[in-house]
Amino acid sequence: MKTTLKIAIQKSGRLNEDSIKILKESGIEFNNGLNKLKADAINFPLEVFFLRDDDIPQYVEDGVADIGIVGENVLFEKNKNVFIVDKLGFGKCKLSIAIPKNQKYNGIQDLNKKRIATSYSFLLTKFLKKNKINAEIHEISGSVEIAPSIGLADAVCDLVSSGSTLFTNGLKEVEVIFNSQAVLISNNKLQKEKQLILEKLLFRINSVKKSKNNKYILLNAPNENLDAICKILPGMKSPTILPLAEKGWSSVHSVVNENDFWEIIEKLKSKGAQGILVVPIEKMIV
Ligand code: ATP
Ligand code: ZN
Repeated sequence: MKTTLKIAIQKSGRLNEDSIKILKESGIEFNNGLNKLKADAINFPLEVFFLRDDDIPQYVEDGVADIGIVGENVLFEKNKNVFIVDKLGFGKCKLSIAIPKNQKYNGIQDLNKKRIATSYSFLLTKFLKKNKINAEIHEISGSVEIAPSIGLADAVCDLVSSGSTLFTNGLKEVEVIFNSQAVLISNNKLQKEKQLILEKLLFRINSVKKSKNNKYILLNAPNENLDAICKILPGMKSPTILPLAEKGWSSVHSVVNENDFWEIIEKLKSKGAQGILVVPIEKMIV
């Protein structure tokens, strides 16, 4: 029988769409119809399991699934023995402590003797212990943010992305426990064949990630400034230079990283670059 790699992703919720997207952008086709528990990829040795995110670390530890995509918040809360293969750059959020917004806060010691509602009691306990705070933890599984307004707690420890949910519930963030994103995890003892499939998958995921962080740039440059412009543009090897029909001008093509993007554009303009075009890259194999 042919070996397949089993991946667990969230069935529905905040990580579902991006998890499917990263697999599809990696060229893996499968049918993710509603209410399906499992799908076989058509063109890659992969089986996809659709599960609740909370169950994914356990399934990967047990080897029911070989790999999985889950938020670091869930992974660290569950504290399972799995291997983090890669950070995926989506599902970004913070695990934070928040209190009613009209309350004064002078520092972490203000949490002493407070009741804090959370679904993350393991991580919160660790955080409080590290900071020598003695608070009461109320473990609840959902709608944590309403706990203070119904008198169940004085503070909450919950996931925050924009902060708007906190605000609408009359809360303000006072401590950030950690920053989380989606990660690819794997069972610690993958068979050799499965490891090879995982490496192939990772190679594809990384070329998708790289392409997102980079842009293809085309511009026109006066020949006398070509040297200076090439120094600004490293490219994958070095920039491509093509002569333009207009004498004394060339077209320069290169790849730039999103992080340095605006800075590079400024420098290029200062060296006389014109007609700058920036285009997205679909895949980047380096
Ligand atoms: P499930 O039904 O699978 O248990 P859930 O309700 O526990 O889903 P979601 O709300 O869908 O979980 O969130 C899944 C993950 O998305 C979180 O664990 C976290 O890693 C990430 N996430 C990103 N931004 C946020 C946010 N603003 N609030 C909550 N989770 C976020
Ligand atoms: Zn969940």
